[in-house]
Amino acid sequence: MKNVGDELAQQLKKHNWTKNYQQLIRQAFADQEVARFIKENQTELSKEDLVRSASKVYEFVTIKKKLANGEEVPVPGYRPQLILNNHLIEVAYVPSEQLLLARKQQAVRARVRSLNMPKSVKAAQLSDYDLEGREEVAAAAGNFIEQYIAQPQTFIPGMYLEGSFGVGKTFLLGAIANGLAEEGYQSTLLHFPSFAVELKNAISGGGTLAMIESVKKAPILMLDDLGADQLSSWLRDDVLGVILQYRMQEELSTFFSSNLSMKELQEQYLTINNRGEAEPLKARRIMERIRFLAREYTVIGRNRRHS
Ligand code: ADP
Ligand code: MG
Repeated sequence: MKNVGDELAQQLKKHNWTKNYQQLIRQAFADQEVARFIKENQTELSKEDLVRSASKVYEFVTIKKKLANGEEVPVPGYRPQLILNNHLIEVAYVPSEQLLLARKQQAVRARVRSLNMPKSVKAAQLSDYDLEGREEVAAAAGNFIEQYIAQPQTFIPGMYLEGSFGVGKTFLLGAIANGLAEEGYQSTLLHFPSFAVELKNAISGGGTLAMIESVKKAPILMLDDLGADQLSSWLRDDVLGVILQYRMQEELSTFFSSNLSMKELQEQYLTINNRGEAEPLKARRIMERIRFLAREYTVIGRNRRHS
C-alpha cells in the first residue's frame, strides 16, 4: 500500500500549499494512530476528504506530541481523539485518565464532610494503619466497612474508640470515613468540642437548630474527642441528647472517640455540668444511647504526635 502521506502531498501540491506545510502534513499522516484510523475508515474517506481533514490531523498529532513531551496544551486534562464526522476527520477532546482519576478522588473527598478535623485525616487510609497491638480495633474497623457496604440499610453499630492522647483514634476515624467514601458513602466527622463552640456562637443568629439537624441526620456520624471540654446541661441534653436520640431511633451508624472510657465519660463528663452540679440520671440516659449506637474499643500504643 502506498504511503497516505506521499499521496496526500501530491494532492496538496495541486492545491498550491507551501512546501513547508506539505512536509508537516506528511509527517502528521505518518503517525501510526492516524494511519490506523484512516485504514479503519477508508470506505468513508476519499482523497479529497483527507485533504480537507489535513489541518485536523495536524492538530491531533501536534497536541499528542505536546502531551507526550509534557508541554503545555490549550485544554489541560484532555487528550485528543480522532473521530469521523460526515466524511471528515475531526478531533474530539476527551478527559485524560489523570483528569478522570483526579475527578474521582475529588468526589471521594467530597463524601467526607468534616469540621475542625486535622489535615492528616484527609489522607488517612486503613491500609496505612500501623497494626501493632491494635489488630482487634483495626479488624473491627474493616468489618464495619464491609458490613455497611453489604447492607447500608441495616443498622450496624459504630465504634467508641477510647485511648490516650496521640494513639491514633482520630486517624482511625478518618481512615474509616475515607474507606466508606471510596465505596460511595458519606460520613460527617466533627471535632465535638469545636462543634460545641460553633453552636454557642450561632445561638444569637438562631442558626443552632439547622446545625443540629444536619448533623443528626448524617448517614454516618463520627464525634471526635468527646469528653475533652466541659459540658453544659444545654449541650448535653439539647444538643448531644437530641442528636443521639434521633440516631438511635433511626438506627444511623455513629462513631465516637474519647480520652475517656464509656464509664469515665458517664461518671465524669456527662454527670457533672459546667455549674458543678451532679446529674447522674441525665448522664445515664445519654450513655444508654451511646451504648446502643457503638461498641467500645480501647486503642493502645505510643503517642505518635511528636515522633
Ligand atoms: P488521637 O486522636 O488518638 O489523639 P491522632 O489520630 O491524632 O491521635 O494521631 C496522632 C498522630 O499520629 C497524627 O499525626 C496521625 O496522623 C498519626 N497516626 C496515628 N495513627 C497512625 C497510624 N496507625 N499510622 C500512621 N500514622 C498515624
Ligand atoms: Mg484525636
